[in-house]
Amino acid sequence: MTAVPQERKLVTAIPGPKSQELQARRLDAVAGGVGSVLPVFTKRLDGGILEDVDGNRLIDFGSGIAVTSVGGSAEAVVRRATAQLADFTHTCFMVTPYEGYVEVCEALAELTPGDHAKKSALFNSGAEAVENAVKIARAHTKRQAVVVFDHGYHGRTNLTMALTAKNMPYKHGFGPFAPEVYRVPVAYGYRWPTGAENCGPEAAAQAIDQITKQIGAENVAAIIIEPVLGEGGFIEPAKGFLPAIVKFANDNGIVFVADEIQSGFCRTGQWFACEDEGIVPDLITTAKGIAGGLPLAAVTGRAEIMDAAHAGGLGGTYGGNPVACAGALGSIETMKELDLNAKAKEIESVMKARLSAMQEKYEIIGDIRGRGAMIAIELVKDPASKTPNPEAAAALAKACHAEGVIVLTCGTYGNVLRFLPPLVIGEDLLNEGLDVIEAAFATL
Ligand SMILES: *Cc1c(COP(=O)(O)O)cnc(C)c1O
Repeated sequence: MTAVPQERKLVTAIPGPKSQELQARRLDAVAGGVGSVLPVFTKRLDGGILEDVDGNRLIDFGSGIAVTSVGGSAEAVVRRATAQLADFTHTCFMVTPYEGYVEVCEALAELTPGDHAKKSALFNSGAEAVENAVKIARAHTKRQAVVVFDHGYHGRTNLTMALTAKNMPYKHGFGPFAPEVYRVPVAYGYRWPTGAENCGPEAAAQAIDQITKQIGAENVAAIIIEPVLGEGGFIEPAKGFLPAIVKFANDNGIVFVADEIQSGFCRTGQWFACEDEGIVPDLITTAKGIAGGLPLAAVTGRAEIMDAAHAGGLGGTYGGNPVACAGALGSIETMKELDLNAKAKEIESVMKARLSAMQEKYEIIGDIRGRGAMIAIELVKDPASKTPNPEAAAALAKACHAEGVIVLTCGTYGNVLRFLPPLVIGEDLLNEGLDVIEAAFATL
């Protein structure tokens, strides 16, 4: 929409003088607990390029953490959100409703896995969606316990901090945390002691054993998992793990919740990542890619579970804001029109081929994984020991930033470099970004 030229261009050092000036003001005015990966202040964002206030154009391999999948100013998002802004900004759906909210819920029913009757409730952030999924599951089951997994990430509010695995930076010093949350092993193939081939069934057996022995299946309201674990390091649970957990949940009246906040909405080359193993979750949480950058989140699921909460029990002042709903409808329109699932798969094939070639030259690339446009490399000191190498991840990210490519790190050990390009990125830019990553390896 803003038609930022789709080319990388550096006219100053990164960050440039105007960004540095703004950063100085920011340090005086913005709380220190709110960090930034790269103190480059944004002017415009479109396609695969972020233009900063100094006129530098950076290749975007982050999409604002998997949010601007359709680009930062997609035509349909801008058109629909602008029209909605001109009509009205807010009524509160709980006071007087509007069509956009209903339309988004209808779209979610159509797009999410399974052809059972579905309903949705809309919220502002991913964490809020996850919290509400827990409320709904508890109301439905009349049980309290919630099971989550090693390396899982579910947000930064009190309940979702409890659900999140990693202490630093998410939880440290912020307790006490919500009770009745239990963590069990996940099928992390690359680091599974007996090897990736055995990992799925073995990890599922361990998880199920812990649930039955330590909690009691009849006390569990919900099992919540990311079908591809995001912040934890783009871990794809080894084959067979998810179906075994789903079967256990189904057999025991436990609500199975897929947290697709990062992996959903075409990111992995499917509307939702759990489709790759034919999984139909009872509830699914979505946010991030849903609305082209506008704040929106949802819980979608089986109508009888979604209706378990009493009238007035769910909601919030801003949940399902009309402008954000318009953005979501524009984002979904774009995803369908441009077939962004196919685009995500093309991005995967380009990235994996290039990264595999790099792995042959640089043995600190221990693992290449992920699906669609959710791809990561796990960096190790050497392939035999698999000792995490967070220093290399930080150095590579820094080198890429200096050359005008925005990349992010993640992982429990901070040793994963992750790539989340907008799905609308051009293939030239994608390859140029990969050239810069390859050159960064050479500087290590
Ligand atoms: C980002 C994320 C959340 C939290 O979403 P917010 O909008 O930041 O609250 C929850 N779950 C997953 C899997 C995420 O990636």
